[in-house]
Amino acid sequence: MELYQGCVRFKRGCKFCIEPKKGLPLWREESEVLSEITAALDSGVNHIRIGGATDIYTYKAEGVRDLEYPIPNPEPIAKILHGAREDERLKIFHVDNGNPSIVAENLEPATEITKTMVNTLSDGAVLSFGLESADPTVHEINWLNCNAEQLTTAIRHINEFGKGRGERGLPKLLPGLNFIAGLNGETDKSYQMNLELLHNLRSQGLWLRRINIRQVEGRGFQDISEEPFRAFKKAVREEIDTILLQEMFPLGTKLSDVWWEAHENRIRRPEQVLDPSHRAEVIRGKAGITFGRQIGAYPILVGLPYLVPLEAGSDIIVTGHGARSISGVEANLSINKATQSQLEAVPGIGKKAAWRIVSTRAKASRKSKIPFDSVEAAFQAAGIQTPEVAKQVFSI
Ligand code: SF4
Repeated sequence: MELYQGCVRFKRGCKFCIEPKKGLPLWREESEVLSEITAALDSGVNHIRIGGATDIYTYKAEGVRDLEYPIPNPEPIAKILHGAREDERLKIFHVDNGNPSIVAENLEPATEITKTMVNTLSDGAVLSFGLESADPTVHEINWLNCNAEQLTTAIRHINEFGKGRGERGLPKLLPGLNFIAGLNGETDKSYQMNLELLHNLRSQGLWLRRINIRQVEGRGFQDISEEPFRAFKKAVREEIDTILLQEMFPLGTKLSDVWWEAHENRIRRPEQVLDPSHRAEVIRGKAGITFGRQIGAYPILVGLPYLVPLEAGSDIIVTGHGARSISGVEANLSINKATQSQLEAVPGIGKKAAWRIVSTRAKASRKSKIPFDSVEAAFQAAGIQTPEVAKQVFSI
């Protein structure tokens, strides 16, 4: 849902960006945005993202014509966010971009807006912050918006209010961070500075929901030094992203309403979604891989190491981490019904233990007995201690 057009830096905006060319920002009225939200809900839409705004904090800000850092105006955005939330048909509600320098230079009014977002948005909300480069030379040459110090202040601010978990198990509101490679003045050292900044944020225990590294090419930009750029991306994925995911989604965390989208490959494909055999209940728990995500603006990819029917949702317990995805197992599985693949999906249950549980169950059912009267009994039969995660996953 579009909120406004343009950027408050319309006089001297980041050189790579087209937004300043639109001139003075053009705000939509609160009533207009709210009636469009109502119209969307009337037509069956359930989930909405307020996007099309370069910075949620500068919607109807004061001093846009004259100030380098216009002063956020908490009331109009609160009117939209609270107004939209009053309609119970609205389910997932997210926003998009934030401007970290505006937040850092105006902490008091920004705090009101941040609190409003934490109170009205669905959990898993992400505010994308554009730093583009931590290198001061690149910053200067390209008239970039925000420096590393302002960014750190803004990230700390969002963490302070948004880190707590919401009802789907996700941190309520977290910052995302964008880098751009190929800007003029960039050298191999620029990537080192970017990485140092990320390590610095990590050392302060600050969370970033996603780190987006983009590349610009062509007229007006410079060639990218391939090797250092590749090394930078690799270091971000291995040294930062994976650790962040482990902290933000610890083993055993329950995430609700993961929507299953694809089998074997993370890309959602029409031939699968349209094929009833991929949606049939009978495939649940069979060997294979299923990918899904919670509804949201920047959802985390979840992989299950077995099949579940597509186009349906379930709650999961986190069992492992990749650089940009997590693995899991469905919550609330019956220890008396879980398949070999479902059992093996739980850390601490190997092939052998899973097989012992399945075969003990088979013997019991031949004698018309209920196989296990407790989760612990199943693991005793398997000859192993009940793994921690299994306590959260299984019931009888
Ligand atoms: S602050 Fe954002 S929207 Fe504004 S000019 Fe820079 S990149 Fe573009």
